[in-house]
Amino acid sequence: MKSSSKRRARVDSSHQDWKASVRQGAGRVTRSREEILELLRQHQRPWTPQDLLGALPPRRCDLATVYRTLTRFEELGLVQRVDLGDGRARFEIAENQPGGHHHHHLVCRDCSQILEIDDCIPADLESRVARQHGFRNVTHRLEFFGICPRCQRGT
Ligand SMILES: [Zn+2]
Ligand SMILES: [Zn+2]
Repeated sequence: MKSSSKRRARVDSSHQDWKASVRQGAGRVTRSREEILELLRQHQRPWTPQDLLGALPPRRCDLATVYRTLTRFEELGLVQRVDLGDGRARFEIAENQPGGHHHHHLVCRDCSQILEIDDCIPADLESRVARQHGFRNVTHRLEFFGICPRCQRGT
């Protein structure tokens, strides 16, 4: 998927006859898509579209483009949506993708900081649930919430 879209991008940018403005616009979108994927790969944490926009070079693209790119990546299975219960859409690299791995989150209810947790549910729970209900390919999502040490101290 990745290599074929890269190939396509190169072909697009080699076209000579398109109006400069069109070519420039398409080039910018392609570049921002690659930069967004790179950020998600290098920094494994749940990103809001606003976070990503702030990490991209100034005026690279707008928030709607970032959001559209993320939902497209989600359809392609490159990223997964993280729901931390506050109504904000967050995305991180999918756990089966390069740079991704299976993990959970621990979220401070006061300051909203997010820690990555590698502990997981007992290994046989998924297969037990699957067996009991006749399901296949059972996976799980799990997020923890609490008050972090700094917020407990009130500093
Ligand atoms: Zn906190
Ligand atoms: Zn798990």
